[in-house]
Amino acid sequence: MPRLVIRSSDIHAAGCFALEDIPKGTRLLEYTGERISKAEGDDRYDGRPFTYLFGVGDGEVVIDGHGMAMFVNHSCDPNCETDEEDGKVYIASIRNIAAGDELTYDYCLYDGDDDAPCYCGSKNCRKSMYSPQELRRKRRAEVRKQKQAEVAAKKNGASPKGIKKG
Ligand SMILES: [Zn+2]
Repeated sequence: MPRLVIRSSDIHAAGCFALEDIPKGTRLLEYTGERISKAEGDDRYDGRPFTYLFGVGDGEVVIDGHGMAMFVNHSCDPNCETDEEDGKVYIASIRNIAAGDELTYDYCLYDGDDDAPCYCGSKNCRKSMYSPQELRRKRRAEVRKQKQAEVAAKKNGASPKGIKKG
């Protein structure tokens, strides 16, 4: 395994950096940690701003990360990806990475209640760590909520405001 180091990151708090050049397609780290049910993860981290849970397979089991892999930050233009094999999760390079570069992968968050703003600074940054599918789902839910609010406002006798001029 290539040598890596945890140090402070411009993206967020601490990050994981390469100490040597790493070719594309190298398995770098295993995402280790306790395996718990999704429900238990929700309980454990209720109300906390950051969690390091990683959904495995169909997402009913999550890994409560510890070790180096949980320091790998999100980027919308990452140099790594996660790769699942036999229920284990690995982080692997999808590009050649130079010594000193920070390792990143796309978190593709789902099923969260809080905003998860992204500050990765890449050109195609989607300003959120949620997956594109999840962002679409959230936008649709938002539109539904607005429509329901409009319907409720009409029922309550509120009428649209405007000034008539004959
Ligand atoms: Zn981003």
